[in-house]
Amino acid sequence: MTQWHKVLIAMGFSVGVTLVSMLAMAILTGEHIPWPFWAFAAVCPAIISGPVTYILASQAEVNRRLNQQLMATQAVLRAQADIDHLTGTLNRAAFYRQASDYADDAPACVLLADIDHFKAINDLHGHAAGDHALRLVARTLQAALRPNDLLGRVGGEEFAVLLAAMPEELGIVIAERARSAIAGLEVATADGTPVVLSISIGVAPLEAGDSLEQALAQADAAMYAAKRGGRNRVRAAG
Ligand code: GH3
Ligand code: MG
Ligand code: MG
Repeated sequence: MTQWHKVLIAMGFSVGVTLVSMLAMAILTGEHIPWPFWAFAAVCPAIISGPVTYILASQAEVNRRLNQQLMATQAVLRAQADIDHLTGTLNRAAFYRQASDYADDAPACVLLADIDHFKAINDLHGHAAGDHALRLVARTLQAALRPNDLLGRVGGEEFAVLLAAMPEELGIVIAERARSAIAGLEVATADGTPVVLSISIGVAPLEAGDSLEQALAQADAAMYAAKRGGRNRVRAAG
């Protein structure tokens, strides 16, 4: 309904109610009401209710638009609060919250991925090269995932993944694919020396009723086994 429709309805209603009230009074009292009074009773409510309704309807429209903008801004801010600003993945809190909400009947699996010898990249080539490596790894991990999987940066150079509706055997295949994609990456550094990246990944199942923390702890233990086994490899918890 447009503003003008609202104005017309309000004018019609106020004029109608006034005229009906006057008619009722004339019938009840038996008095004759001269026509100028009828004209006055029709014009006055129309003059008052028209502009008042127009102002109220305009204000309501402005409020509705502002409310829409506010809700859109709130949605953007909520989404930004969940994002790790360096890598664009979920941050730790958002990953844990969203992964805990995962409630599919199908078993999922979790990965914990840690960049190998990352401290050396910072120490030898500077923090900017380290940051660049983090962004590159995040992009490569993201590219290995489906839209409903979750990827979060849960520590300095540690990423967690929830592979939705994915048995552990297939999770290992995805992890292996991500590991091999990262093993071929080189980070350009300020002094021109390229740094070759690698990552160690632990995989653990997350079945209905399992706790996320427990599954991630298992994936973490598997990831440390991968480190001990020589790094740049995938290990499964099971
Ligand atoms: P490992 O192969 O055993 O995992 O060794 P590592 O060097 O990768 O692990 P370590 O835990 O010794 O070092 C992690 C480093 O990550 C230390 C810290 O300075 C660095 N780091 C943490 N957060 C950031 C970040 O946001 N940016 C950069 N550039 N470095 C970070
Ligand atoms: Mg680490
Ligand atoms: Mg590391």
